[in-house]
Amino acid sequence: MEYCPSPFVDLAFVAFFQGLRKRPKFKSLRNYSGWTYPGSAGWKVYTNGKHGKVELRDLGLSIRMRGKVKQWGNPTTLTIVYRPSLNRWYASFTVEVPTVEAKYGSTSDLKYESIIAYDLGTSTALTTYDGSEYVELTNPRFLRNKEQEVKRKSKLRRRKVAPNRNKKIKPSNRWKKARKAVSRLQRKVSNQRLDWQHKVTSDIASRYDIGVTEQLRVRNMTRKAKKGSKRKKQKAGLNKSILDVGMSALNKMIGYKIEAKGGLLIVLDTKKVKPSQRCPNCGKVHKHWAELSSRHHVCDACGFEIERDQGSALVMYQVAINQQPGDGIALVNVDASSSTSKRRNCKDTGSLKQLHF
Ligand SMILES: [Zn+2]
Repeated sequence: MEYCPSPFVDLAFVAFFQGLRKRPKFKSLRNYSGWTYPGSAGWKVYTNGKHGKVELRDLGLSIRMRGKVKQWGNPTTLTIVYRPSLNRWYASFTVEVPTVEAKYGSTSDLKYESIIAYDLGTSTALTTYDGSEYVELTNPRFLRNKEQEVKRKSKLRRRKVAPNRNKKIKPSNRWKKARKAVSRLQRKVSNQRLDWQHKVTSDIASRYDIGVTEQLRVRNMTRKAKKGSKRKKQKAGLNKSILDVGMSALNKMIGYKIEAKGGLLIVLDTKKVKPSQRCPNCGKVHKHWAELSSRHHVCDACGFEIERDQGSALVMYQVAINQQPGDGIALVNVDASSSTSKRRNCKDTGSLKQLHF
């Protein structure tokens, strides 16, 4: 490749000679994370959404791209990103796409036969209820199996000569090779996870117009155990399985996929509805049902029995159709105005239409 002087290097040295800044340091390409073109100047893209070519004028480069987008439109911004862990460069475009008109303007337009309530859990990744049947999707264990492999390969890497700047030790070729093997494996795992998530969520979004769920607080659940706590191991296991499934990723995917076809996502307030503690039959709230060890629920008021995750999905479904017994949990309390705002462009990340209960 031809050497091309970067305008940034020039600028940095001019500033240094003027005494405005420190002398520019050499930075390895590995530490360079990328840059953004905020407008359409300086670059041009040739693609119809699958593979293609991008021209970066100031660098005088024309680069081939690989990849496929869900929806291609008029490109407006470009970000070039380098991901060291993957050792790859990415071009990320923002595109304008035609606005999808919302099918449902308010809660009174809900089509009940096309509604799905879902509970994101740990042992069963996803439990859904659509008014007639429960579907339980189990947590794919591929990540955990692969984790052993990652551990093994990382151990192999640690035995090789790693770079050490202070001691001026360069990494050995074997170390580089071992690192590559680890990152290749990690990339594979993350791709498999993503693939599974997309399959599951696309299936749900294609069959239902209305999704009902509760606010997720994954951060709380993945919190580290307190020092000296005996539950450390259990906590670690729970954390792992949460991260396995990527609950919040699943939740977001279902949301935006239902939205993309003009459907509606109803997000219930967990504190008010308490789906995992409420009896679907009589509405009584049982505090001890919230404990994760409590898997099978029996209501001491009415004798109703149900598995925990199924119970949560059932409660949320019934709240959405206004048939859940209990005080102050009718859906009419929902601020319907938040649902009537029209969707803006997809590049606007805050445009997900949600009803907060
Ligand atoms: Zn009950």
